[in-house]
Amino acid sequence: MNFHILTLFPEMVMGGLSTSITGRAMEKGIISVEAVNIRDYSKDKHRHVDDAPYGGGAGMVMQPEPICDAYEDLCARTGRRPRVIYMTPQGRVFTQQIAEELAREEELVFLCGHYEGIDERALELVATDYLSIGDYVLTGGELPAMVMIDCISRLVPGVLNNEVSAEVESFHDNLLEYPQYTRPEVFNGLAVPEVLLSGHHKNIEKWRREQSIRRTLERRPDLLKGANLSKKEQKYLEELIREQETGENEPDSH
Ligand code: SAM
Repeated sequence: MNFHILTLFPEMVMGGLSTSITGRAMEKGIISVEAVNIRDYSKDKHRHVDDAPYGGGAGMVMQPEPICDAYEDLCARTGRRPRVIYMTPQGRVFTQQIAEELAREEELVFLCGHYEGIDERALELVATDYLSIGDYVLTGGELPAMVMIDCISRLVPGVLNNEVSAEVESFHDNLLEYPQYTRPEVFNGLAVPEVLLSGHHKNIEKWRREQSIRRTLERRPDLLKGANLSKKEQKYLEELIREQETGENEPDSH
């Protein structure tokens, strides 16, 4: 999987992504990350890439030419015309489902804006997708691009040591992950749930599914609409909802 980031701050994205798991995946050649400095495509003698907005108003706008030239050069080098995802607070909000869809691409371009954003004509000419990381405004698209690349990379086979772990995590199947515990067995008077020490795999799996359902209901009930629950699990959920409504204690599942 090859990621290309069109940015004015290559050192920012490369510094972050070269660290830890994504860094190791880059070293192993499972993913590649290239930061293209948009400023290198400026034809201005002072290497300017932005100018004041037509019509007036605060701030500066990134000019279209260096961005389009950077993209065309990238296409010539790779022999492809990959999807270009513009990082923008005006886009669809990035989700695990979108990450799963994007992970099927071989080549992806992330276009990072700065200042007041990018001249609309550059977007009309090169952007294929508009994605946001949430309903708030950041100073630039670099952090959103890093967030998305980190998330997509984890879905590329070989990036995580444990292939299974991306499949049972939060948002997979529209459920949040169950609580996790490690040594010691008792910490500050708090014990690890007994079932996890039992070695009984079926009971552990059942407990984890139920915890996932409980946690999703408590923290992100909006997700449950799309969850794929068995008849038994559906009944368990209904029981939890009834208890929530009547204020009863949580049921003992074992
Ligand atoms: N004037 C723009 C607007 O109101 O839509 C916001 C520009 S913002 C200050 C500068 C750049 O940061 C944007 O071009 C975009 O690339 C990036 N950005 C800011 N917030 C973002 C978000 N929530 N998700 C993705 N990108 C974001």
